[in-house]
Parts: sequence; C-alpha cells; structure tokens
Amino acid sequence: MRKQTLRIVLGDQLSPAIAALRDLNPAQDVVLLAEVQAECTYVKHHAKKLVLVLSAMRHFARALQARGVHVDYVTLDDPQNTQNLRGEFLRAIQRHRPARVVATEPGEWRVAQDMRHWQSLLAEQADGQEVEIRDDDRFFCRLQDFFTWARGRKSLRMEFFYRDMRRQHGYLMEGEAPAGGHWNFDKENRKSLPKAVAVPSIPSFEPDQITRGVIALVQARFPDHLGSVEGFAFPVTRRDAGRALDDFIAHRLPAFGDWQDAMKTGAPVLFHALISPALNLGLLDPRAVCAAAEAAWKKGAAPLNAVEGFVRQILGWREYVRGLYWLHMPDFARKNALGATRALPGFYWTGETRMNCLRQTVRDTIANAYAHHIQRLMITGNFALLAGIDPNEVDEWYMVVYADAYEWVEMPNTRGMALFADGGIVGSKPYAASGAYINRMSDYCKACSYDVKDAVGPNACPFNFLYWDFFARHEKLLAGNIRLAMPLRTLQRMAPAKRAAIRSNAQAFLQSEACKPP
Ligand SMILES: Cc1cc2nc3c(=O)[nH]c(=O)nc-3n(C[C@H](O)[C@H](O)[C@H](O)COP(=O)(O)OP(=O)(O)OC[C@H]3O[C@@H](n4cnc5c(N)ncnc54)[C@H](O)[C@@H]3O)c2cc1C
Ligand code: SF4
Repeated sequence: MRKQTLRIVLGDQLSPAIAALRDLNPAQDVVLLAEVQAECTYVKHHAKKLVLVLSAMRHFARALQARGVHVDYVTLDDPQNTQNLRGEFLRAIQRHRPARVVATEPGEWRVAQDMRHWQSLLAEQADGQEVEIRDDDRFFCRLQDFFTWARGRKSLRMEFFYRDMRRQHGYLMEGEAPAGGHWNFDKENRKSLPKAVAVPSIPSFEPDQITRGVIALVQARFPDHLGSVEGFAFPVTRRDAGRALDDFIAHRLPAFGDWQDAMKTGAPVLFHALISPALNLGLLDPRAVCAAAEAAWKKGAAPLNAVEGFVRQILGWREYVRGLYWLHMPDFARKNALGATRALPGFYWTGETRMNCLRQTVRDTIANAYAHHIQRLMITGNFALLAGIDPNEVDEWYMVVYADAYEWVEMPNTRGMALFADGGIVGSKPYAASGAYINRMSDYCKACSYDVKDAVGPNACPFNFLYWDFFARHEKLLAGNIRLAMPLRTLQRMAPAKRAAIRSNAQAFLQSEACKPP
C-alpha cells in the first residue's frame, strides 16, 4: 500500500513549522520545492529579490536534508522543468505516486486559485490523491477569524482590530489594560530627525557559495530585470535573519518610535527593522519578533513608544492588510475609486527627476530593493495618488521593485493605503500631503531645485500644486470625509485665480517631459 505523503513548500513558505510539514515523517515522506520561471517573471521582480528567494529556498532545502528529510528539489535550469508550479506538481505526482498530498494555503490569490485547480484535477482521476490545503498558521490571526471579526461591522479600522489582537495575544498588556495606559503612542512617533543624530549601520550578510551560484543564475537568466545583484546582502537563512533581528533590537529599536516617520538622504533604513524580506519568506516568525521587542522593553533596553509602535506594525498592520486582502479579493485588484488613469512616469524606473525626494527614494529602491514605509507611502505613493496614476501600473511597480513584495501585503498597502483606490477599505482618508510634510520629515527639500515654499510658478514644488489640484479634482467625492474638513475648507476659501493657477500648473507639469511614461 502507498503510504508516502508529498509535501509541497512554496518559495515564501520557508519555515520548518509551516503547516504542510507539521506531521512530517522523514522516513517516508517527500518534500517538493520547485524553482519555476513563471514565478520569477509574472512581474519582472527586482534582481535582488530573485536572488533572495531562490537562495533562501536552496538553503531551506539543505537544512531539511541535514535533518534526514527527502527533498525533491527542482532547479530553474533543470531541462525537464515545466517552469510553472502546476506542471512541477503534476510531474512530482508522476515521480512519487504518493498516497496523499499536503500543502499550505498560498499567500497570493493567483496561486491559491491555481492550487484549487490542482486539487480538483487530482480528485477527478480514478486513483487520484487527496490534496489537503492547510491554513497558513504563521500569522497571528486565522483568516476565518478575521472574516468573523469583520462580519457585521459597519466599518473596519485597524486600531480596533489591533486592540483585539493585543488582548488576545497578550503583548504589552498589564492585565486587561494596555501597558503605559494607552493603546497607541503614535503622537510621540512623528518627530523630525535632527541633523546630529547618528544613524546606525545595517548588518550585511556576505553571499556564500550557494548564493553566489544563484547570483550567477539570475544574472544569466534575467538580465532585463530591474536592479543589480551587486551588493546583495540580505540574510537567506533563519540563523542570519535572527542575527539581523537581534541587531535591530539592540541598535535601532530604541529610537524606532521617535524617528519612524523621518527620511534622510543616504540613509534608506534609518531606524527601521529591514526584516520584511525575511519575515515574508518565513525565515522569521512574527511571534518571535514581537516577543523579542517586548522583552527589550521589559528589561529596559527600549522605551514603550518604540516597542508599541513596532509591535503595532506586525501584530496590527501586517495582519490587518492580509485579512482585508483575502476578504476583498478578487475585487480588490480592480478597485479604482478615484478613476485614476494616468500612465506611470518614466522616472519611477530610473530616478531621473528634478524632484529630489523622488530621486532619492527611487534610487534607494533600485539600489536596495528596499525603501522604508514613509518613503513608500509619502513619496512614491503620495506622488502617484496626487498625480492620479493608474492603480494597475502603480501596483505593478511596487510588486517589481521591493524584495518583500507579495500581493497579499503589497496590494492593500498600494491600492488601499497609498492610492485610496479602494475608496476607504484600508484607511479612512487618502494620505495626501504637500511639500510641507516632506520638508518637515526629511532633508530632501534643502537639496532640491524646486522651492518647497512656492505653491505655483515655474519653481514651485510639484507636490504643492498637485496636492491642491487633487482636492479640487475630488472635492465632491471627498466632501463627506470629516478627516479632510480642513484642506477642503481651505480649498473652498481659495481665490478663483489661485485655483486656476494651481490647475494650470498641475496640468502643464503632468503633461510635460518631466512626467513622460518610459
Ligand atoms: C505603497 C506601499 C507598499 C508596500 N508594499 C509592501 C510589500 O510589498 N511588502 C511588505 O512586507 N510591506 C509593504 N509595505 C509596508 C511597509 O512599508 C513595509 O513592510 C516596510 O517598509 C518593511 O520594512 P521594515 O522591515 O524595515 O519595516 P519596519 O518599519 O521596521 O516595520 C516592521 C515590520 O512591520 C510590518 N509592517 C509595517 N508596516 C506595514 C504595513 N503597512 N503593512 C504590512 N506590514 C507592515 C512589516 O512586516 C515590517 O517588516 C508597503 C507600504 C506601502 C505604503
Ligand atoms: S521641494 Fe518638493 S519636489 Fe523638492 S524635495 Fe521637497 S517636496 Fe520633493
């Protein structure tokens, strides 16, 4: 009698405790990991992301093999490789003729749909194996629990979800009450960065032989993808990801809260954790990350505002956007509440623009496959919002450029939080900001050839006239939003001549060479 179980592990499921491996029997089972072209090219991922994922997969397979597990590993350059997940799954069924198949729910709608298809393909065959698809329990909140929480609520807000998660999981709690008497220390977390503050260095992880092999493979197979493999320094194993986390907890977490919203030229990470690439692959466990941050607070190594702010990102935002993604897919991918249709300007792919904030952020992004949250939200995201850029193009850009991009987390952040294309599912208002915000939170404006104080005119900061033009274009749609009462009132009081000047400056700028598509 066939007894073998085929266990499928996808490229972003690299956790030894992943649901599909839970009851693994190394003496009998086989684990399938397959590198396929289709997953490398459904968007043209940044070269560093490809190295990260493929190298982490190879290291993960090696770690399983070291435990005596039989791993069936299909490399990208295997001549038999069908280059898509379904093909590799069906080939593995032929090779192993397992009694059953176990997988973990994929993180993206597209792959989840495909996996359901494999399931029914096998079910239709006379001696077809059962394909069991298990919940991905690496997250704090099961999807079914999120749907139950969401059901019956008129409007969903992250803050209330986050409080429930704190109560449920016990982080930063003093009995029933939040530690320090407040759920949220956000007001303390919006400081601009004084020049004298020294920015800690970020640990880098030298590529080993496996990673060097992957670097050569990516260079040969994907020469037209954005970015370069040069300077690749992400951790690709659990051990190194743990070291990166320890370094953050020791050196950056204490100031994470204070400077969370700040931006500085030449310092793309500042006091952020830079753990999302490892976290989303499964090299770090979100429970261990939150526990490490809480432990630092308990021993007095990091203040509460920093630790609360950090835990909120993981226990709150990360879980919340995942829940919303699955609650609203596939409709989420079609949302365009503001009717935005403009093509993405070419400078998003090159960084060649006079706008220094965008130049710095896009250059950081291309060089590192990383930018921190405020650069993503308030620079590239904010410009796309104000300029009315097509959400499909913006979504694709964010999927291409970042090493941590997976649709379940990228799309709600982009279409929802940054573009308000979801009409208010993720956030209660658009995060629209003029040059004044960027000037307050960064050193970008000082080195810019535009003048951040000018609202109109040949040298005016484009974020200024685009900001007012955005509110003018969407005045009716946003009128009922109480959180926007102030800018809308200012707009209503604006002299008609100024409004007209803003309109014509915005139109001329958006139609100029400066914003030309590639
Ligand atoms: C337009 C836009 C697109 C984004 N795309 C992605 C993406 O593709 N993948 C991704 O992981 N994050 C995305 N984010 C969220 C956030 O910007 C990144 O998680 C963060 O910058 C990662 O860097 P870090 O590890 O240094 O984060 P830190 O600032 O140190 O935060 C710690 C952790 O909290 C989590 N986190 C923080 N903010 C969010 C958020 N808004 N949503 C979900 N998790 C969050 C991340 O896991 C992050 O690693 C996006 C944000 C915006 C505005
Ligand atoms: S002046 Fe305007 S365009 Fe220039 S860096 Fe500041 S916000 Fe950006």
